[in-house]
Amino acid sequence: MASPRLPDAVPPGSRSLPTVAVVGRPNVGKSTLMNRILGRREAVVAEQPGVTRDRKEMPASWQGREFTVVDTGGWLPRSAGDDSSMEAKVSAQSEKSMTEADVVVMVADSQTGITGDDEGVAGRLRGRAGPVLVAVNKVDDEKHESLIWEFIRLGLGDPFPVSALHGRGVGDLLDAVLASLPQDSPRAPDGRGADEESVTVSVAVVGRPNAGKSTLFNRLIGENRSVVHDQPGTTRDAIDTVVRTELGLVRFVDTAGMRRRARIDQAAEYYSLLRALAAVDRSDIALLVVDATVGVTHQDQRLAERIDAAGCPIVVLLNKWDLLDAEAKAAVSADVGRRLHFLGDAAVLRISALSGKGLSRLLPELRGVIAEYRRRIPTQAVNRVLRDAQAAHPAPDGARVLYATQGAADPPTFTLFANRTLPRTYLRYLERRFREAFDLGSVPIKLRVRRRSGE
Ligand code: GDP
Ligand code: GDP
Repeated sequence: MASPRLPDAVPPGSRSLPTVAVVGRPNVGKSTLMNRILGRREAVVAEQPGVTRDRKEMPASWQGREFTVVDTGGWLPRSAGDDSSMEAKVSAQSEKSMTEADVVVMVADSQTGITGDDEGVAGRLRGRAGPVLVAVNKVDDEKHESLIWEFIRLGLGDPFPVSALHGRGVGDLLDAVLASLPQDSPRAPDGRGADEESVTVSVAVVGRPNAGKSTLFNRLIGENRSVVHDQPGTTRDAIDTVVRTELGLVRFVDTAGMRRRARIDQAAEYYSLLRALAAVDRSDIALLVVDATVGVTHQDQRLAERIDAAGCPIVVLLNKWDLLDAEAKAAVSADVGRRLHFLGDAAVLRISALSGKGLSRLLPELRGVIAEYRRRIPTQAVNRVLRDAQAAHPAPDGARVLYATQGAADPPTFTLFANRTLPRTYLRYLERRFREAFDLGSVPIKLRVRRRSGE
């Protein structure tokens, strides 16, 4: 076993922290927001609009994750032929921090709505490769929250309502910032990225007692020799195990029961369900281990439904395949089609955890699921598919989706702005079109519908 090499055991300063640039036209509340994020009055709040500041980089942290906030001092797109002005100089420097930042937060003002300058800033940001979040500021109370939907027009995804002044919504914004930060530090100065790697994916191994979870887990660890470290999970007795694999570091969530043999008692089934659901909540992917000698049981079905509803992709492992004769194999395969049909084309692997047979396909399968899961689709493409889908098959009774955007990537979540309620069947139709157009395979897709008055 390798000595513990915790990602955060790296001495401070030996790697560059991810950067978050805050941009927006003057007076929208960037400084106020930065003060909020920094938790102290570090950035200067300008008394008058447009007061220029030097670019500043300030250390910040949220939920234990450290990053650098870059103050862009009122970034505006450069106006042609005006390169000598103070504004142009500020903009050039700000533009540099905007380009280099890992995540950009564009701040806008709910009280003024979208201005020409906002459109200019957004236009520049839409061309950016990295993530951009829109914070619509000065939403000081709930009743002003609907003001944010206008900002969807900026084409940068779902806006976040915040009140920098009162702190409202800033936590949610920061959660989204963290979720958009790079998973590992690609800019390690000495190129020794391996030591600074962070976990690429969290996997829950779930299934009924005796399905073979422990056997599988021990085999996965055995084949990927270096167990990097164990980490306490969230509950008192949960233990996560981080393993180095060809996919990078993989965290197996709540492996406590799989490391010491769990006692089987009457409550085991119920308890294992609760435990499995808690593990799934903390995971990117669930491996559902089914005892193929028993078949797909009602309990397996319930578990799969709950995982699916939580938006977590599933790989089904039909275990103990070595014990089945041809007839039993056919019966179990039919079971999967019947009892787990709602999983769509989720991967189903037939394995023997005991012998390792069939397991070589697992990591490549996980790689595919992760790649699909993390994809983010440009807003224009989403709307193109939406337009074609509606042209081919309009919704009944004059219902129409005006605009759609992908809010989150994990799992792909599309927000549809519709003039009225859409029937479920129509939503399923749209989901299918999105799935086909973007090749999303078995990844769960969420559709959220928001009502808007027609345009
Ligand atoms: P910057 O030019 O974008 O850095 O904007 P500032 O942070 O200097 O804020 C501009 C003005 O908006 C100041 O008067 C702030 O007090 C005010 N402001 C900032 N955030 C909020 C907010 O959440 N709600 C309200 N009502 N006013 C805000
Ligand atoms: P858990 O309760 O889900 O962790 O299940 P275990 O990993 O403890 O396995 C339960 C029993 O099934 C043990 O006796 C294992 O040796 C056996 N087992 C697990 N996987 C296989 C397999 O692929 N083939 C066979 N023949 N037995 C297996």
